Amino acid sequence: MGPAFVPAIGRPEPERDRITEGEVETELQRFGKAIEVVTSNLSETGDKLRASGSEEEAGIFEFHVEMAEDPELVSAVEERIRKLESPEAAVLAAGEEYAAEFAQMDDEYMAARADDVRDVTGQISAELMGHGASGFETLETPSVVLARSLTPSDTARIPKGMALGFVTAEGSRTSHVSIMARSMGIPAVVGVGPELDRALDARTVAVDGGEGYAIADPDADTVAEFERMSAALAEERAALDEYRHVEASTSDGRRIEVAANLGSASEAEDALEWGAEGVGLFRTEFLFMERDDLPSEDEQYEAYSAVARKFGEKPVIVRTLDVGGDKDLPGVDQAHEENPFLGWRGIRMSLDTPELFKPQLRAILRAAVHGHLEVMFPMVADVGELKAAKAVLWESRRELEAEGVEIGEVATGVMIETPAAAVCAAELAKESAFFSIGTNDLVQYTLAADRGNERLRRLQSADHPAVLALIRQTCEAATAAGIPVGVCGEAAGEPEMIPMLIELGVTELSMGAPSIPRAKKVVLEL
Ligand code: PEP
Ligand code: MG
Repeated sequence: MGPAFVPAIGRPEPERDRITEGEVETELQRFGKAIEVVTSNLSETGDKLRASGSEEEAGIFEFHVEMAEDPELVSAVEERIRKLESPEAAVLAAGEEYAAEFAQMDDEYMAARADDVRDVTGQISAELMGHGASGFETLETPSVVLARSLTPSDTARIPKGMALGFVTAEGSRTSHVSIMARSMGIPAVVGVGPELDRALDARTVAVDGGEGYAIADPDADTVAEFERMSAALAEERAALDEYRHVEASTSDGRRIEVAANLGSASEAEDALEWGAEGVGLFRTEFLFMERDDLPSEDEQYEAYSAVARKFGEKPVIVRTLDVGGDKDLPGVDQAHEENPFLGWRGIRMSLDTPELFKPQLRAILRAAVHGHLEVMFPMVADVGELKAAKAVLWESRRELEAEGVEIGEVATGVMIETPAAAVCAAELAKESAFFSIGTNDLVQYTLAADRGNERLRRLQSADHPAVLALIRQTCEAATAAGIPVGVCGEAAGEPEMIPMLIELGVTELSMGAPSIPRAKKVVLEL
């Protein structure tokens, strides 16, 4: 529960449109000063993120600093000021022109940069009007964030401890905002649709992320009720603490490994504190997104090594790049697709772009020297893809050996997240050291229900007979082949799903780290 924070979405309104001839010089100076303030705030946030190990998020802010200082943009604004436009109006107008140029670009990544331009020019305009920047990074009071949608970069900008909850109009429980919120331990209510508009003027918002509802301006009784629930939750959390570092087995002796899903290397430390016995899914795409170039092999090697070192003997499953779908990638020409979730994503893109795939595999092989790394391929639909991916891994290994570079052993596994992979599980098992079921995508592809569409909630659960049948088939194939099978989709951390998954034969559960103690408790009580 806390004050509502609505990030400045859309354009701020300039307070003045025109200035007089006599004001030009002072306004030019004020404009210069506003850029300085905004860039210094942005750099400071970037530095803080870098210091806390969030390299990729820090990159976003460096990019925004460059944009704020862009000479072309600056001179366009100055010219407008000389023509007697107020600086706050001038920077918005010039920003809009600049953004429109980006928006027209064929490259989807570049087109998406239009929003960055608007974001930056909006901040300069707000600064000129004395409001200070109005983005997430300015949040100084712990608040409930209300927004149409939240991207990983939005959430990364919120200073630590300042988000008490998220309420978004779009999204579902397996969309990226939910995954981020879960791994940050922040209650979220997503997919509220147009209802959000009614809450935008609220002073206070109460969020129940467990039940999935939020109340704008709660009355005294509701406040008291939320305080009671919140105290009970804190107590429950404290009681769960004792489960953090235990090993979980069912009463009939089935040992279930409980691991963490990581969205970036910086989450590794926390995950261990929550009791992760390994990493069941290291999503590497966050290294590639939200920046305007590709991470080098060495940069990737550093990130993978950092996690490998932190986890030591504990296994860390690195998933190769899974962009496409709803995630963009700079530096790769991703043509517009009518159905991106059915498009060029995951292993399909990797196999078509060895210049992207190989450096990643080389980095993983090199980093494997520092710990226990395994590699996993996303979006596999048939055994041919798996064999092709393994061939590139093999080639990368040979190259490194020829170069005399030290490398480690990595087992290779497959994500079972297309119905095709589940149906072909017996074939895939012959070529895999392990399976990991990605229920988020398996559900969306099996039930033909977009995982981010808030209207399809009924069809967004792994608890559907068709999905369960595919999970069963996968587990049977794995058991017959003698390979382990885990679940790394959001279902793995849902207490009501865990008994069913174990019953079907799953032996590893991987989830947003804060869910680990509760999952271990559920297993121990089975
Ligand atoms: C999944 O699809 O279940 C999964 C874990 O992968 P992602 O959520 O990254 O698509
Ligand atoms: Mg997936």
